[in-house]
Amino acid sequence: MEMHQCQVCRKLFASSGPKICPSCIKRLDRVYEKARSYLRDNPDANLNAKELAEAIDEDVLDIEILIAEGRFERDLAEDLNDIRRQQLLNEFQKSLSKTQENLRALQEQKKTTYGKDRHGKGIA
Ligand SMILES: [Zn+2]
Repeated sequence: MEMHQCQVCRKLFASSGPKICPSCIKRLDRVYEKARSYLRDNPDANLNAKELAEAIDEDVLDIEILIAEGRFERDLAEDLNDIRRQQLLNEFQKSLSKTQENLRALQEQKKTTYGKDRHGKGIA
């Protein structure tokens, strides 16, 4: 098995596929279940990622990762009608531009706690 760096917490872990480590996957699964049941119970709620995170009291970054992974897209089809689903996904997408920033910030943060190395030389 290869070593991969977790896209969420940047920890190295052995994986044959997923780019997110088992502990993050576990947490994301829990957050996802919470989010999904919230959306099911509140079919009229018009939320973006941040509002959804607040509503279920979880980290917005976890929600954004779930969105970026396309989890909601796949499952909301079963839970909501097309129009509602599209509305929600649009809201999510709007807030999604922040995900890359957040992920990058997270990476930087972890990197500096890790060691103090500056940007290394790229592969020339
Ligand atoms: Zn992780």
